[in-house]
Amino acid sequence: MSMQPPGATGETLRVDVAVIGAGLGGTAVASVVARAGYGVALVDSHALHPPEFRAEKLGGDHWALFERLGLAPAARPALTPIQSIDIHRPGTRPVRRRAPEYGFVYSDLVNALRAGRPPGIAVRVGRVDALETGPARQVVTLADGARIEARLVVIATGLGDAVRRLAGIARTETHKAHSLSLGFFLDRPAATYPFESLAWYGRGPSDRTAYLTLFPVSGAMRANLFVYRAAGEAWTRAFRTDPAPTLAALLPGLERVCGGLGVAGRVQVRPIDLTLSEGHQCDGVVLIGDAFCTTCPAPGVGVRRVLTDAERLCRVHLPGWLATPGMGADKIAAFYDDPVKRACDADAIRASLFARAMAVEPGPVWAVRRLRNGLVRRAAALFGQGVGRHEGGMVGAGMAGAGMVGAPTSGESGPASPGCHTRML
Ligand SMILES: Cc1cc2nc3c(=O)[nH]c(=O)nc-3n(C[C@H](O)[C@H](O)[C@H](O)COP(=O)(O)OP(=O)(O)OC[C@H]3O[C@@H](n4cnc5c(N)ncnc54)[C@H](O)[C@@H]3O)c2cc1C
Repeated sequence: MSMQPPGATGETLRVDVAVIGAGLGGTAVASVVARAGYGVALVDSHALHPPEFRAEKLGGDHWALFERLGLAPAARPALTPIQSIDIHRPGTRPVRRRAPEYGFVYSDLVNALRAGRPPGIAVRVGRVDALETGPARQVVTLADGARIEARLVVIATGLGDAVRRLAGIARTETHKAHSLSLGFFLDRPAATYPFESLAWYGRGPSDRTAYLTLFPVSGAMRANLFVYRAAGEAWTRAFRTDPAPTLAALLPGLERVCGGLGVAGRVQVRPIDLTLSEGHQCDGVVLIGDAFCTTCPAPGVGVRRVLTDAERLCRVHLPGWLATPGMGADKIAAFYDDPVKRACDADAIRASLFARAMAVEPGPVWAVRRLRNGLVRRAAALFGQGVGRHEGGMVGAGMAGAGMVGAPTSGESGPASPGCHTRML
């Protein structure tokens, strides 16, 4: 089911909360707030979320958030369950881990969440032309003249800048061209590979590679490759034009393990900047998800960050805000200061920087860290099992030996499994 068409010109809708951006975060917030009995409007410029390269794999900890937010029934039909992952690392024997994960097409997941939203959400499709904000009342004006009056505006427009700018909020690129994500399909059905899903790591700094992960999505084999390279460099151009040989050269042994390597269709290439919003402490408006900050896809922390924002906003802060008069910046600051949100964002940023440094940093400190991680993994492998036999005790972890031993974290959880944030070893 798609979103409804725009309201009549001149319409004024009065709600408690207006959510702008019906992606993962915005749809989650609108659904939770509506279920709690508040009046909600959900605005997006697209009736259906367009196909875009974003997160394509979820781990067990992500799924727990979907369940806690009541999104699991709507999300489930869009997901392909994955039971195991084979991990290939240079210098250690491959390991098969039990890893309850899910593959998906991002737009299918978002559209499923939109379709499964609870009744009562006033959905509007259109461009936001103006945003008037204040300590008590906010007015969103759409291009067709429709107006939405709300006590709070939630900006969940992801990478889009327009609405944030209307609110006078800037975005700073803290790490420009931090990494490059490549997404593509292999040319054979997923069932023809000798593994269900796979993670394959780079050999060292000269590879400039975090890892490749292969996983099933609706019967096809999808690939996400995370590298620390520029979009315009020769290697990236070669990958676009001749992906299979370029991939085989990057990860020797992959072609043999796959039983041949072919790429179907176009390679999607997405440069990743790490960004933070600036000046977001203002009356009447709160930013969530990628609208607030963006991190690197390699450690797989984005979905957790977005849904943690949704959970903390809807379950911890919003009920109190709506129960008392006013919606000033001082009230909203409690969300940005929320210790769980802050720890989640900080972990995500740390994980993004750590994963890059572990993959590409020269110098003795990182060389020693890589060596230490290799030794820890070899020791773990002595007590583990090789490919062909499942390793027990990893259900829900999906850690997959992501190479993040010793990553500095807030202590609660750490970065990095292949595409799915999980606990560290
Ligand atoms: C290539 C790539 C790979 C990734 N891989 C992973 C991964 O493996 N694991 C992981 O956890 N995370 C990953 N991420 C991060 C994750 O996908 C994002 O953090 C998450 O999707 C952001 O959700 P969101 O709700 O903030 O934004 P989105 O889901 O992007 O939603 C934004 C919405 O706002 C709407 N919008 C934009 N502008 C306007 C406007 N002016 N008016 C109205 N509506 C507007 C859009 O149409 C869209 O519906 C990846 C990101 C990228 C780019």
